[in-house]
Amino acid sequence: MVPEESRRTKIEPGMRCLVVGLGVSGFAAVRFLERAGARVAVSDGARPEAVLAEIRQWLQKHDIPWESGGHQSDWFTEAQLVVVSPGVPLTLPALERSRRAGIPIVGELGLGARYLDIPVVAVTGTNGKSTVTELLGEIFLAAGKKVFVGGNLGTPLCAYLLGNDVADLVVLEVSSYQLDTAPDFKPQAAVLLNITPDHLDRYRDFNHYAASKMSIFAAQGPGDFAVINGDDPEIEARVKTSSGHGKFCRFGEKAGGSCRALIASDEITLYGAGEPEIYSLAGHQLRAAPNLGNAAAAILTARLMGCDQAAVKKGLDDFRALAHRLEKVTEADGVQYVDDSKATNVGAVVAALSGQNRPVILIAGGRDKRGGYQPLVPLVREKVKAMVLIGEASEVMDQVFRGVTRVIRAGSMEEAVFLARELAESGDVVLLSPACASFDMFTDYKHRGRLFQEVVLTQSVGMRAGGEG
Ligand code: ADP
Repeated sequence: MVPEESRRTKIEPGMRCLVVGLGVSGFAAVRFLERAGARVAVSDGARPEAVLAEIRQWLQKHDIPWESGGHQSDWFTEAQLVVVSPGVPLTLPALERSRRAGIPIVGELGLGARYLDIPVVAVTGTNGKSTVTELLGEIFLAAGKKVFVGGNLGTPLCAYLLGNDVADLVVLEVSSYQLDTAPDFKPQAAVLLNITPDHLDRYRDFNHYAASKMSIFAAQGPGDFAVINGDDPEIEARVKTSSGHGKFCRFGEKAGGSCRALIASDEITLYGAGEPEIYSLAGHQLRAAPNLGNAAAAILTARLMGCDQAAVKKGLDDFRALAHRLEKVTEADGVQYVDDSKATNVGAVVAALSGQNRPVILIAGGRDKRGGYQPLVPLVREKVKAMVLIGEASEVMDQVFRGVTRVIRAGSMEEAVFLARELAESGDVVLLSPACASFDMFTDYKHRGRLFQEVVLTQSVGMRAGGEG
């Protein structure tokens, strides 16, 4: 916990600051601190060769001492502030030394948020953060606002603060790791989309993970808005004990209260100050689960933040679906191929399957996240004709789903697509929605999705050519 008096402290010239972790946001923090006149040092766990040459040159040019390959530096006990990157576990022994020395530890978001004097909209949740963040960005843009969209997605907050552009407001995607190191973060509107098991390798248990998500509301005051998913029992169970003072507004099929966005079929009705407002998403790209809920969250938040109805509608229309999130790749011989590689946890796959009305051949597996797969069983039974498993989790998943549906294992993405194609009949969908991390076989979820798309397109061209020949 960061001591109270240090929470709002800004950086003084000459202040000794240590940045731990040289990822995208860590490097943004280094540059921000350097610009603020701090004496900065850096500690990174990766091997020196893993640090990009440009970053090394920049550090050298600005005379910033840095260590890599471990965290031995005396700065852990001698700094006045430690800024930790989201990828660095807070249980790192070196950080324990800082804590014992009474040195405040914050993240890049916690640091940057102290410098924001414009409205902040923050979006968190296990799934849907990027989608809703981008959606809100489009709506504010349509409302004529100069908006900075970033945070956990795209440009870090400190990089925005370093630039010369001054926005009217910021929309930030915020992860639980960032919330853990931003105790004074106080968004005017905070959106919590859902809480389902994820990152259990880093949190002691699900309750700790959920508490981290709920902390987005902790510093809010009476004029702020806390937008929550009224259909999510895990959120509802924790609302009563929230220490925040923001006004709770709900979206969802069961959303109650005076301020809410109620979903019924493909219509979203907003109840608030004036007459109810109806937004019909029939035929719209966002009409199916889980995007209908995402749209409801964004509409409610944007209206609370003063966007008018026309801007909301234009923003929804201007929004372009993000890659690797239920992205349609192609349709060949009546079979649709969908890339949902960003579904790295069970909650995202539950959402993906809920939105399907065709029989599914599901390609899943990868690095297990230790959350268990049981919540998928009813939907797999109902919608999945066959499951093709890849990666490290194949064995565990095979045990869960054998008997629920037909399960086949594949050694590569090429083989997985080939088998899925063999199993699919006209009218089916082949869905890559892994429920696992990608790092066992791929660089990241983008690499996994790109390869899926390439293989699908190559094999379906081959198939058509074969069919014609
Ligand atoms: P995040 O930034 O939280 O990872 P994304 O918008 O990138 O969220 O989507 C990640 C995955 O979650 C994708 O597979 C997407 O289809 C799925 N998804 C999107 N919105 C939701 C939601 N509201 N509930 C559950 N899953 C969702």
